[in-house]
Amino acid sequence: MRQLQATLDRIDRKGYGAYRDLQGSYELEGFTLFVDRVQRDPFAPPSLVRVRTQENRFDPALFGNLVRRVAFEDFLTRSVDRVLRRAIKGSRGSGGSGRIEIQRPSQVVLPRTSVLVELGFVEARVSVGLPARGRTVDARAAQAMLLEELPRAVREALTPTGVDERKALTHVEVVEDADYLRTLLPSLGLVAFVADGAVLPRESGASDHPLREGAVPFESPEEFRVAVELPNRGPVSGMGIPAGVTLVAGGGFHGKSTLLSALAWGVYEHVPGDGRELVVTRRDAVKIRAEDGRSVAGVDISGSIGDLPGGRSTMSFSTTNASGSTSQAANIAEALELGTSLLLVDEDTSATNFMIRDERMRELVQKEPISPFIDLVRPLRDSLNVSTVVVVGGVGDYLDVADQVILMEDYKPHDATNRAREIREEFPARITPGAGEAHPPRDRRVRASSIDLRRGKRETARGKGLHAIELGRERVHLRYLEQLAEAGQTEAIARIVGEFAIGNTNRGVEKVVHGALGSLEKNGLDSLGDFRGHPGELSLPRAQEIAAAINRIRSLEATTVP
Ligand code: ADP
Ligand code: MG
Repeated sequence: MRQLQATLDRIDRKGYGAYRDLQGSYELEGFTLFVDRVQRDPFAPPSLVRVRTQENRFDPALFGNLVRRVAFEDFLTRSVDRVLRRAIKGSRGSGGSGRIEIQRPSQVVLPRTSVLVELGFVEARVSVGLPARGRTVDARAAQAMLLEELPRAVREALTPTGVDERKALTHVEVVEDADYLRTLLPSLGLVAFVADGAVLPRESGASDHPLREGAVPFESPEEFRVAVELPNRGPVSGMGIPAGVTLVAGGGFHGKSTLLSALAWGVYEHVPGDGRELVVTRRDAVKIRAEDGRSVAGVDISGSIGDLPGGRSTMSFSTTNASGSTSQAANIAEALELGTSLLLVDEDTSATNFMIRDERMRELVQKEPISPFIDLVRPLRDSLNVSTVVVVGGVGDYLDVADQVILMEDYKPHDATNRAREIREEFPARITPGAGEAHPPRDRRVRASSIDLRRGKRETARGKGLHAIELGRERVHLRYLEQLAEAGQTEAIARIVGEFAIGNTNRGVEKVVHGALGSLEKNGLDSLGDFRGHPGELSLPRAQEIAAAINRIRSLEATTVP
């Protein structure tokens, strides 16, 4: 502490660069402070600092297994965030002076680098805007931040004295229950489960927080109700969505897309109070949508699209500007490459000509390379064991391919499977949907050397907010990845892709992704950090989103293996 004080005294009012002398570690009262990286000027990205308590006196039940530990780390991240917002004085001069912040989590619980819980200590990784007057060191303010505000925050947010351990235990148990519930799905023959009482609608299109007023709680139709026993919460009932093809029908504005979106987010655990704590979906579920304009590199989309104009083959399809339907076909083929057990499709975000083609159009248009999705869903299910939940309000032909039909009325689901059968018999479809075989897409290898990380004199691979990564001079847009939860995932994806690009390999996307995730499992998310100490703000991405990012790189070159 005295050493820190002495350094601050010495550099007071010197040029901002003198802050570099702070780098190092300091024993303060009750914790160790690591100053890992010092910013160059008050306007640059903030300095990176870690605080580590000297012991961990939390109830070991809070972090006794991996799932619990991740949940507890998530709880502590939120706890630090709350305390910092309250206790930090904030702006103290030019640029980011005075700010102390921790990674901001979304509504989902993920492994992150923000907090580390070990047997012997708890560590928080924060960013600090070292205070400046103009462009000079403001040591007095720095002293207040590092020796008063930060220690107070540590006591309040990282020790049992300040943390409500009962609340922490609830947090951990809710997450554990959801994780356990998801592991039950296969043995129950389900692809998803939505608990009775769940609150699915969100506050607004721009907020992932629950709708506060007028939300109709979820209530399963009797026919789909499944009862399960969870380790912490005990007996729970809800709607089980069986494997197979599930049609979600209903009038406009009756809650179809809201249900599908909750299922898409069900690949993650949610924080208590979210409303979707017990809405769980197979971990590998992929939301499929149209995304015209995306680029595609050598993907075998022949499963849904035959030869294109000019005899162009779709067994190895590349374009820098996909159409609505070819982009949706590529999204499906890429999901299959990685391995998925569940596709989620919403008519709202689909290309019409990808979903369906009616009798008249079949007559008029003879040269149509697209086999609509309606012809693909059964073969996907029957030969590749891939289930689908598809939201359709306007196209009755889908009744022919559905194993079960959920009808949404006034935000309430009903079992309309039998009614659908009657209607099918009364009004038989004039076109019989495809029932042939689906084949998995052909193997494809992506070339690392086609990704160029150079940007001026440097090499870059970094996240740009939630929806883009920057690889050298290319910006890869991820805004249509509806299951990307937070910027920390995007940053991690950028670094993973960056590591792949540096190598000189030619590998299948699934190999690249599983290799990367395997090494993260072994070495921890911290291993993605580019220097010792504070690794930056990272959250664990899913395999699906990493692959999706690679697949959207415009310069990507790929070869299909026959
Ligand atoms: P659809 O896809 O059937 O047209 P949406 O799912 O988009 O309908 O929902 C329409 C509106 O109703 C949205 O504003 C949504 O937030 C709201 N909503 C959905 N489910 C509920 C619910 N259970 N309770 C209250 N409002 C809901
Ligand atoms: Mg909708």
